[in-house]
Amino acid sequence: MRNRLVVANWKMNGSLASNEAWIKEYATLTKSQDVEVAVCAPFVYLPQMRTQINEATLPIALGAENCSAYAVGAYTGEVSCSMLSDIGCQWVIVGHSERRQLFGETDQDVAKKVKLAMEAGLKPIVCVGETLEEQEAGNTVEVVCRQLNAVLDAVGASALAENGAIAYEPVWAIGTGKTATPQQAELVHAVLRDSVESRDSVAGKKIRILYGGSVKPSNASDLFACNDIDGGLIGGAALNPREFHAIVCVAQSLTETVI
Ligand code: PEP
Repeated sequence: MRNRLVVANWKMNGSLASNEAWIKEYATLTKSQDVEVAVCAPFVYLPQMRTQINEATLPIALGAENCSAYAVGAYTGEVSCSMLSDIGCQWVIVGHSERRQLFGETDQDVAKKVKLAMEAGLKPIVCVGETLEEQEAGNTVEVVCRQLNAVLDAVGASALAENGAIAYEPVWAIGTGKTATPQQAELVHAVLRDSVESRDSVAGKKIRILYGGSVKPSNASDLFACNDIDGGLIGGAALNPREFHAIVCVAQSLTETVI
């Protein structure tokens, strides 16, 4: 049984004041849950978030939204995986479509980052997803398998299943309000799981595959109820602690149903 995982991706949003308000409000809503929850915040706010999560004793793991593809040295402006680990991060999002599209990250860059993240003890959330054009051309499966295979070639299926997760995020569904239907998403998730399983059957059953793309409290239960969807990577809705908490509660209620 895979434990569900719900991850917030705050992107380039937040301030000292609004982050504090978010934590305070979230703390009024929950103290514990069985599902795993992580918040990925901008680099500069990670120490603040770590302190406030600890002070409020919240069951939230801390994550970064990106990391460097280099380990150490003369890379001005970069933040290494070991630095993230050093300040208390447990998770890191790698290969988000905004990084691939706006900052030119290649499959090879993503694979390098995932490898370094694991070496530093971080758990990478490997994002894959097709653009609208790729979807319309019928290339979804080819694109997401190519993106995933670059990572599996670099770190292996078993390591990723043990120490990371995959997020399927169709680019056309991110921040657009258009969500993949549960059937559309499940189809791709099953293909991704098969890809991992074809390399290592235990890893295929174990790996958590999150769905991301305009997830809201109102559509989360249909998505999370699918066999191969193990939780969500949440952008816009995660900026509001009540909405994010409501999505966590959906994952929690499905976990209780299975138990
Ligand atoms: C994301 O960017 O990871 C994401 C899923 O965004 P949104 O939920 O806003 O579509």
